[in-house]
Amino acid sequence: MTGLLTGKTVLVTGAGSGIGRSAAEVLAGHGADLVLADINGDTCHETAESVTAKGGNAVPVVADVSREDDADAMVEAAIRAYGRLDGAFNNAGVDGAFESVAESTVENWDRVTDVNLKGVWLCLRAEIRRMLASGGGSIVNTSSTGGLVGMGLGLSAYVAAKHGVVGLTKAAALEYATQGIRVNAVCPGTVRTGMYHQVVATGVVTEEQIAAMQPINRPGDPAEIAEAVAWLLSDHASFVTGQAWAIDGGLVAQ
Ligand code: ADP
Repeated sequence: MTGLLTGKTVLVTGAGSGIGRSAAEVLAGHGADLVLADINGDTCHETAESVTAKGGNAVPVVADVSREDDADAMVEAAIRAYGRLDGAFNNAGVDGAFESVAESTVENWDRVTDVNLKGVWLCLRAEIRRMLASGGGSIVNTSSTGGLVGMGLGLSAYVAAKHGVVGLTKAAALEYATQGIRVNAVCPGTVRTGMYHQVVATGVVTEEQIAAMQPINRPGDPAEIAEAVAWLLSDHASFVTGQAWAIDGGLVAQ
């Protein structure tokens, strides 16, 4: 265990799988006390049990980030458990549906933007209200390389929501820069999580072809995103705010 986040209470949303679950493990490894939120109670509890089995502190909360009351309740859970909130990783998200703009539906637009953008805003708002009262904190939002470039894959709602997260991150960072609250985003590229394995299982593309899309010639591991999040949440990143950091093996540098 490092002491990077020792003494800090951090809320992680979407902690039941993928990058959120890895972040819980990594942040606990750096000494953070955690509140873990997910809409899926079973997977959220599994993550919390895994963290506590290794000697960490983790409180699971079943919550839907797209609901105002749930977003507020997650922050209250942190205060109840630890008496403070120093950091947050607003990471809960849903995958986009592959449909062209012309074929896209209101149902899919609402599903994707409600969680991936409105959900981030609701959590950010609740966290900032608390952090203003306690003198500051650090917030990291999950965007995507699709928050920086267009992708053109029939993921317009997803891309719009993830660009929205970058805009929200910059606006909030500027509003609270003098009040001790830093706000940044991570923009993961291709990462070996559930969606990656689903795409590989379809046989439409091979793992070798996916690897070749990255200059670094491989997809990322969730922990490689989580380590960047840990650093942004820590005091080592004290001069960093308003950034959208591509963690993508060089993908968008091309
Ligand atoms: P990634 O591969 O980007 O890490 P995953 O799909 O593996 O994405 O993880 C996203 C997490 O977010 C899942 O655990 C999922 O249950 C959670 N999630 C999805 N929608 C919501 C929501 N509305 N509120 C809270 N958590 C959510």
